[in-house]
Amino acid sequence: MRPIQNSAALFRCPLCRSPLTAGETSLRCEKGHDFAISKKGYADFCPAAKAGAYDDALFDSRSRFIAGGFYTELIETMKALLDRYAPAGPILDAGCGEGSFLKAVCPDPTARPCIGLDLSRPGIQRAARGGGGWLWAVGDLSRLPLKDNGVTAVMNILSPANYPEFSRVLAPGGVTLKAVPGESYLREVRALAKDRLRRETYSNERVVQLFGDRFCMLEAREICSTYPLTSAQAADLVAMTPLTQGIEKEQLDLAALDTVTIHLHILAGVPR
Ligand SMILES: [Zn+2]
Repeated sequence: MRPIQNSAALFRCPLCRSPLTAGETSLRCEKGHDFAISKKGYADFCPAAKAGAYDDALFDSRSRFIAGGFYTELIETMKALLDRYAPAGPILDAGCGEGSFLKAVCPDPTARPCIGLDLSRPGIQRAARGGGGWLWAVGDLSRLPLKDNGVTAVMNILSPANYPEFSRVLAPGGVTLKAVPGESYLREVRALAKDRLRRETYSNERVVQLFGDRFCMLEAREICSTYPLTSAQAADLVAMTPLTQGIEKEQLDLAALDTVTIHLHILAGVPR
């Protein structure tokens, strides 16, 4: 049995909400909805999900860039907040992409069940590469394939959220940890592409307010550091960030991109 089959009790059918039982190659509900478990070990709760804008090359860039250490402060902050507010019990990384953050924040998935979910199949395929005990699933944030009150923490890093679903899957007292960009996040990329961006400046005011509407804020932390970039890292950064999507990368003067600012707010809250 693969880890995800052994953890079938954490999940539920995203179509009819029934419990799931593990079969040889799938998770299945009593109504006959059947969700394949790939040979790589991830469950596919959204077989109709299209490839979309996020392809293999993007996730390669993203995982290389994150491995460069630019998000170490974020990862350490997430670890500290988990220690403080949800030291045990299952954790969901909602919008985990290729899984770099979940693997870094929870390097030992035998310590607690660690579920990474994303609508991007290439992302989840990459996350599942190399095995390990993490539980990877292709799934829709608006219809989480998880049972009610089953996780003690939802992590949501630089990714869209679905707060009603987060609240549903959280156990009483469970915490949502959301990382949102600060106004200086990737400011060097914004400056480089400013003629081609719809908005040169960014404000997270609305995002933070929406979080506060849904969650009682336990704590908000802010991190902001500027790092030197190699030319390879600059190329990965431009390839991975949604900021420069739709912009011909050849038109950007990558040689001018020799630093990057990682400015993030990390919000911890319990559902209201
Ligand atoms: Zn079903």
